[in-house]
Amino acid sequence: TVFNIGSINIDHLYQVDHFVRPGETMSSTSYQQVLGGKGANQSVALAKAQAEVKHVGALCCADQHILQQLQEYGVNTDHIAKVEEVSGHAIIQLTPSAENSIILHAGANHKLTKSQVEYVLALVQGGDWVLLQNETNLVAETLQMAQRAGAKVAFNPAPMDADLTRKVLPYIDLLIVNEVEAMDLAETDSIEKATQILPEQYPELAVMMTLGKDGVRYFSQQEDIKVDAFKVEAKDTTAAGDTFIGFCLAELERGSDFETAMRTACAASAIAVTRLGAAPSIPTLDEVTEFIAK
Ligand code: ADP
Repeated sequence: TVFNIGSINIDHLYQVDHFVRPGETMSSTSYQQVLGGKGANQSVALAKAQAEVKHVGALCCADQHILQQLQEYGVNTDHIAKVEEVSGHAIIQLTPSAENSIILHAGANHKLTKSQVEYVLALVQGGDWVLLQNETNLVAETLQMAQRAGAKVAFNPAPMDADLTRKVLPYIDLLIVNEVEAMDLAETDSIEKATQILPEQYPELAVMMTLGKDGVRYFSQQEDIKVDAFKVEAKDTTAAGDTFIGFCLAELERGSDFETAMRTACAASAIAVTRLGAAPSIPTLDEVTEFIAK
């Protein structure tokens, strides 16, 4: 089982002619509401990769229909708390040239309680993973409790908070970052230097660093494995990282080695970037297997 303790957002997408200007009131040309948040996207990816995934989070009482959407993807929602607080959401303006401008409000995502987390972590069994991103509250406490509970702990520190991330590294088995986050953490502007600095400073750490169209690199003091991305024509890279993480952890949980997990995850995210949107762009494991075989 993978316990994903993470955000759930309602993304409000407004198609606009231009970004609204100071003092301007502007009508949108279309509106769409979709499921989002790094946490929810990664849970969907895990479920599509056929992992048993329990999402742990919080939603406003009024938005319980979101649970059904997650369930339809195969995500267990038993541990999503109903709270008296607006759900996490994003107000997104999209222009005809595909630029976006986003207001994010954490809302219920910052209303996780210690007792909720404790209750869930008591269910952890040997071999289970606990996954977190940085869009919920109690991140440091939860990572520490997850380690104590005997889980394998994966952390995707997005959005990056370098101070927090350094503080929690002792609790983490696998840090999953993109190249920008890795460089932030290592306080360098070179990817190559980041791959040297991080294992030097943190000898116990294992890092999975995604490199966009250049693939992914897994490194620690003992290992350095690089897997190339699959060549595709990218249309929309939204949720590429989330797809990667879901498929990678699903494979690791099944007992695959790192190289196999990285290859499967690269294939899954390559498919995702050829499709528009977040959760709907994530392929199924069957699609990924077929894609690799081609
Ligand atoms: P994030 O979205 O978190 O910044 P990346 O951009 O590093 O993450 O993408 C995650 C993974 O998605 C990469 O490791 C790669 O396998 C895949 N990917 C991203 N962009 C492309 C692309 N243009 N072509 C093929 N694969 C891609």
